[in-house]
Amino acid sequence: MNFLREYFIGDYLRQNPDVLKQASIRLVYNIIIVSLFSLVIFFSIYVIKGFHYQLIKNVVIMFLFASLLFYMKYRQSTALVCHLMILISWMNNNINIYLFDEYNFFIALLTVCDIIFAFHTLGSRWGLIYSGLHFFPVFGHFLLKSHGYQLNAGPLQEMVYSEGVITLVLIFFIIIYLVYHYHKAYELAQQTLAQSVADLEKERDIAEQMTRLKTNFLSNMSHEIRTPINGILGISQVIEMETTDDAIRKYISLQQVSGRRLLNTITSILELSRLEAEQNDLSLKIVEINGLIRNEIGPLETLAKNKHLDFYFSSHPEPLFCLADENMMKQVVNNIVGNAVKYTDKGRVSIATYITDDLEQLVVEVSDTGLGISEEFLPRIFNPFEQESTGRSRTYEGTGLGLSISKKYIELLGGEIRVNSMKSVGSTFRILLPIHKQLL
Ligand code: ADP
Repeated sequence: MNFLREYFIGDYLRQNPDVLKQASIRLVYNIIIVSLFSLVIFFSIYVIKGFHYQLIKNVVIMFLFASLLFYMKYRQSTALVCHLMILISWMNNNINIYLFDEYNFFIALLTVCDIIFAFHTLGSRWGLIYSGLHFFPVFGHFLLKSHGYQLNAGPLQEMVYSEGVITLVLIFFIIIYLVYHYHKAYELAQQTLAQSVADLEKERDIAEQMTRLKTNFLSNMSHEIRTPINGILGISQVIEMETTDDAIRKYISLQQVSGRRLLNTITSILELSRLEAEQNDLSLKIVEINGLIRNEIGPLETLAKNKHLDFYFSSHPEPLFCLADENMMKQVVNNIVGNAVKYTDKGRVSIATYITDDLEQLVVEVSDTGLGISEEFLPRIFNPFEQESTGRSRTYEGTGLGLSISKKYIELLGGEIRVNSMKSVGSTFRILLPIHKQLL
């Protein structure tokens, strides 16, 4: 028996490392083999008894089942084999029902077998289709009979005792095997699932540990860099105050611009790493957003005017309150309005505040007529260190951290940031935050 299995499905099993798939292949193969052996025995019974109709049917089915084994061997697939097996069994049942007018216990059991097998090997959709296919001919036969119609093309050939016993054993075997197979598959699936969950948990722990390490590294490094830069900046301020030499004053002011830029970058990295480690200690208080924006945009307006841009701020007529960390909010406004000014070379930058229709959220809307953002870049715009122009093509200063920090801040406050943009037309960023209601 082993050599037969090796011959027909040895390669097929080796090609499929998935144990569930292997169990399915074995199931299909075993059912074909057992059916074939039974058919050989039936063949001898029919020869002895001289049942010619059954003999012809038997030979055809034997030939078809044998072909299925070769199909499995060479095509290494079971779907078509399962369909054909079910259809052959279905046709066999119909031949018995319509030609021999025989509807007995065995045909009913075979029908059940076919349906379970279909659900098992081909899935629930095919299971239902085959259930219908098996039901309607039987139903039709009863209906025809009740109306007096009878096909009865062949002489009635009653099932002999030995044929009945073999059929019963065969069907019994198939049903037990299907249940056993189902149970095994269930156990295997449970084991595989438990293993996958354990693997995933392990991966998650490693990932969390790596994130912690990265965050610690970043925050330590940022701290180690920030402290000496502050020292350098402090000393350069002292030199600026002490010196009377104009050339040195000029060099010192250049040094301070670069130093502050470096400090800002490091501060952003530190901020992001803190946010990622969720070490953020928010000091929430009630903030009036119109006033906060008005106080923050002065230097940005000057920057916009220097670039000959129109700059507007249209605030909601009433004060808008929200619960926020004031420093965070200032940073968010600076990032988003700063970007609008930075990435706009002509036209206007406008800021507006208003309330959503459901009166639940306040909106800070920042629009510009600048570069715009391409459709491809838009989904990545809030990722840390992502910038649309990178490498040598970069023309604007920046770290690519402002938006990701702003988004994290706003989400911590229960709000969201949305963006609409069209390349070469402009962009609109909307910050939505829950309104602090008591004070409305
Ligand atoms: P950066 O420091 O580079 O400005 P941000 O996180 O603030 O970093 O922005 C990420 C990227 O998003 C920018 O590099 C730019 O490509 C794009 N971007 C942000 N705001 C605008 C805007 N108003 N117009 C066009 N592009 C923008």
